[in-house]
Amino acid sequence: MSTVYLIGAGPGDPGLLTIKAKHLIETCDVVVYDYLANAEFLKYARKDAEIIYVGKKGGDHTLPQDQINQLIIDKAKAGKSVARLKGGDPYVFGRGGEEAEELVAEGIAFEVVPGVTAGVAAPAYAGIPVTHRDFTTSVCFITGHEDPTKEESGHNWEVYAKSNSTLVFYMGVKNLPMIAGNLMAGGRSKDTPVALVRWGTRCNQESMVSTLENVAAEAEKRKFAAPSIIIVGGVCSLSDKLSWFEKKPLLGKGVVVTRAREQASDLADVLRHMGACVFEFPTITVEPLDDYDEVEQAILALGAVDWLVFTSVNGVKHFWTQLNEIGLDSRALGGISVAAIGPATADELKLRGVTPDFVPPKYVAEEVVAGLLAQGIAGKNVLIPRAKVAREVLPEELAKAGANVRVLPVYETRLTQADATEITEALAKGNIQALTFTSSSTVENFFTLLSPDTLRAYPDVKIACIGPVTAKTLSRFGFTPHIQPEDYTIPGLAAALGAKL
Ligand code: SAH
Repeated sequence: MSTVYLIGAGPGDPGLLTIKAKHLIETCDVVVYDYLANAEFLKYARKDAEIIYVGKKGGDHTLPQDQINQLIIDKAKAGKSVARLKGGDPYVFGRGGEEAEELVAEGIAFEVVPGVTAGVAAPAYAGIPVTHRDFTTSVCFITGHEDPTKEESGHNWEVYAKSNSTLVFYMGVKNLPMIAGNLMAGGRSKDTPVALVRWGTRCNQESMVSTLENVAAEAEKRKFAAPSIIIVGGVCSLSDKLSWFEKKPLLGKGVVVTRAREQASDLADVLRHMGACVFEFPTITVEPLDDYDEVEQAILALGAVDWLVFTSVNGVKHFWTQLNEIGLDSRALGGISVAAIGPATADELKLRGVTPDFVPPKYVAEEVVAGLLAQGIAGKNVLIPRAKVAREVLPEELAKAGANVRVLPVYETRLTQADATEITEALAKGNIQALTFTSSSTVENFFTLLSPDTLRAYPDVKIACIGPVTAKTLSRFGFTPHIQPEDYTIPGLAAALGAKL
């Protein structure tokens, strides 16, 4: 029989998962998760792990608690290790205690992995420290939604009201008028600051600060709903001064990333860091070729090559895979000059111990040609490992300039069979503010998956593209990009979005 881990998955920001929680998700046989535990974490699970959703959304229980308990017990008795993920901390209003009691009763081994609880994290992301020496000496976690079957309330409103404790209410939005009323009736000043934080720590976080007297009406007016944390106390007055998360330039903005999944993470990560709600919609997949005979022959003939020109990160990766495959490594490039079309490609080369001899100041083929000519490439043997289908400008111009050019396909890009439903729905709901295109093929493939007319129906959605070549492809479909960086790089694109969206 194996162990059950009651794991806190934090309040939503994927970065707030603990290292221990991540390790357990990666290794357990079964992952059982709740509505509020961010589904992002499931990507850490083993490919063969059994993943079971037992979520609760409001009153709509997917599985009643006793059945959840039974499910976990059955899995453990079948010899499986179980990661039981819960939002926030499992022992703070998470019914983790009840699940643990059941496990003990059944003689099943268990461990608890505490998580970052919403009652501390959501205020922190809204600029509110739950304790501060100027305001309070204690903090109180309170349910705003007592078990309705209980005969007598466990609340002592007078004590809450008379203490100078910061009061943090979970599950309380619906009962906000009752909560505020009871606290004022118990003697807390009607001017006491009160804050609400909805979807705390996530890209769609919203917060508001009011007073005990006005909070219920204001929350209703602003349609504040669950899941929200309510904070009562002087510390809420710090939220303006200490606000940081809600100042992120892209907070709450929905941005679609169309790059291949293998490459998307760099752009998606930067955008998330800037606060964006990222929709990953990979339009292309990067795949190895069916046959690498030609590449192998070319590698064995590297002795005759003067310049190797890499035009993409994938070109570097797939070229090296083949190099290693035939028992060679970076030393095979010994006497060869190397060029990279941009900084990301250059970094990929540096990872393999090769510092490029030339990186053009602007990241388009034309600039590479000019730079390489200045390096005296005329008459030299040039090998360009790249995608099977790509623009011909670079090889053609280099050949015109007198170089002896050979193009070597080392990978190919294909259209993904992605389903655009999530994107069309999000567009319709107004949840998408920008689309990003990082190459001509992302544009072409995007419009294969979603018709240009569909997009035209949303003129407010901004189109961001990496550079002039991609912009030209967009214009073929009748779109002019609203946002385009000065330098044609991923960080440049992200910065331009931050400034203009
Ligand atoms: N065990 C969880 C709490 C579960 S009770 C924890 O430790 O955080 C569910 C309540 O938690 C919600 O009704 C809401 O009040 C609060 N909550 C959970 N996640 C939240 C979030 N990201 N932002 C605001 N409140 C949240």
